[in-house]
Amino acid sequence: MLDHLTVVDHPLVQHKLTLMRDKDTSTAVFRQLLREISTLLAYEVTRELAMTTRTIETPLTTMEAPVLDGRKLALVSILRAGNGLLDGMLDLIPSARVGFVGLYRDEETLQPVQYYCKLPGDMDSRLVIAVDPMLATGNSAAAALSRIKDAGATNIKYVCLLAAPEGIAALAAEHPEIPIFTGSIDERLNDHGYIVPGLGDAGDRLYGTK
Ligand code: URA
Repeated sequence: MLDHLTVVDHPLVQHKLTLMRDKDTSTAVFRQLLREISTLLAYEVTRELAMTTRTIETPLTTMEAPVLDGRKLALVSILRAGNGLLDGMLDLIPSARVGFVGLYRDEETLQPVQYYCKLPGDMDSRLVIAVDPMLATGNSAAAALSRIKDAGATNIKYVCLLAAPEGIAALAAEHPEIPIFTGSIDERLNDHGYIVPGLGDAGDRLYGTK
């Protein structure tokens, strides 16, 4: 399992994450911090993108210069909090294709219920990066990743901001080949399926809905 798990422990990520956890951080600042952290997570998750070269003319000479190879990658936001990570990633990878999987969590069963799914074409030939800030029970993430696989994707990475050990274990059990990138592994889930210490409900904090 640990082979597939990367904790992005860069000081900037950790500092910004602390500010996000603080219950007194405003909606506007929370949203801005998530955008900034997601750029840093995007940097890490794209580290092994395939490269090729292209012949270009600099003002001084001709050179074989490195460029990304293959089809444009796809970012898939797991609604709604995923959009908070998506925006920052698009700042860094503006030509990425974008998909959405809408799932809500049944508060009694904690099971995901799908209400929306729209994915780019040619998923089988793209790197697909699925994003959702909170990997809690792992139920929503596992369901979203199954939808993405159903669409043909075989090269998938999952990025979150915070992960509970329970969510990491659930995802590793259901999708063992999918690498997980996270800013932190927190202690545990509480009885309501929230990550502790966590940062509360990421969607509510992002959009000021509570
Ligand atoms: N979703 C959230 O937004 N926060 C949690 O702690 C768990 C799931």
